[in-house]
Amino acid sequence: MLEVQNLTAGFLTAQGPLVAVDDVSFHVDVGETVCLVGESGSGKSVTSLAIMRLLEYDNGAIFGGRILLDGTDLVGLSQAAMRRIRGRHVAMVFQEPMTALNPVFPVGDQIAEAVMLHEGKGRAEAWARAVEMLRLVGIPEPEVRARQYPHQFSGGMRQRAMIAMALACRPRLLIADEPTTALDVTIQAQILELLRRLKAEMGMAILLITHDMGVAAEMADRIVVLYAGRVVEEGPVERIFERPAHPYTAGLLASVPDLEGPRPRRLRAIPGAVPSIDRMPPGCRFHPRCPLAEERCRREAPPLRPWEEGRVACWLVEQVAGQGMGREAGGP
Ligand code: SF4
Ligand code: MG
Repeated sequence: MLEVQNLTAGFLTAQGPLVAVDDVSFHVDVGETVCLVGESGSGKSVTSLAIMRLLEYDNGAIFGGRILLDGTDLVGLSQAAMRRIRGRHVAMVFQEPMTALNPVFPVGDQIAEAVMLHEGKGRAEAWARAVEMLRLVGIPEPEVRARQYPHQFSGGMRQRAMIAMALACRPRLLIADEPTTALDVTIQAQILELLRRLKAEMGMAILLITHDMGVAAEMADRIVVLYAGRVVEEGPVERIFERPAHPYTAGLLASVPDLEGPRPRRLRAIPGAVPSIDRMPPGCRFHPRCPLAEERCRREAPPLRPWEEGRVACWLVEQVAGQGMGREAGGP
């Protein structure tokens, strides 16, 4: 359904173009949940904004590649054509609902507006849909709540309202960028459960962007790991968790508390930080932080190649996968 091919995107600055996402390819099948994971600065949000063609509103630009949605390349479309696709076919929820909800209009009006715009429904029918959507996302007394303003909602309720708005036109793909990061643990669990339920009921696909491997474990069918603007690993969720094949993935997993164990495992953060986009290291971009880095890694970027039912970009993949890195044997 969604096929991102060789996407290169970033920002236009006075010093010239800055590439934040470099030759990224992945796909999302009908009804599937794919998690894009990586630390902040890895290019996850730039990727999602590029897909929605919202990057342009933020000094950003797509420098190359294709974004096929049901076969239509979104990269070449006018913003007018994109407005018809956003909401109707692909919708997005963000970390901070206040940026998506307009503070000066009642929540129900905003949802109804989207329905009128995309489906040409009349006011009464659109309002009824808004109330139905608020009920669907678990907002109590939706007829009353629909008449209230965003500031009258709690953080968790606002996030539910934003999901209601995103799903009002029954899009086939929902892009959710860190949708629960700003919420406390209990509300986070409720919102994830809500997304799972709506996905099952509405049959949509989800591209979920998160830095949290715990969230990915709960939600994903497949995981795509981004590091410094490149895909470093991709595979089915079970394989990624059982046999990570890239040292970065292993490092991310080692820093997740083991929820099934008797007590939280000691967290090991990966030393160092994601390089800034104007100072990418040569060769493998992970080499300054990689415990296995050798001479070749510093010179030559490893290609992304097929690995079990997925892909990985590491010169030493056999060694990494073989030693169970990041699990009992001890990660980086
Ligand atoms: Fe580490 Fe080398 Fe693999 Fe990069 S290519 S992840 S530096 S072992
Ligand atoms: Mg982000």
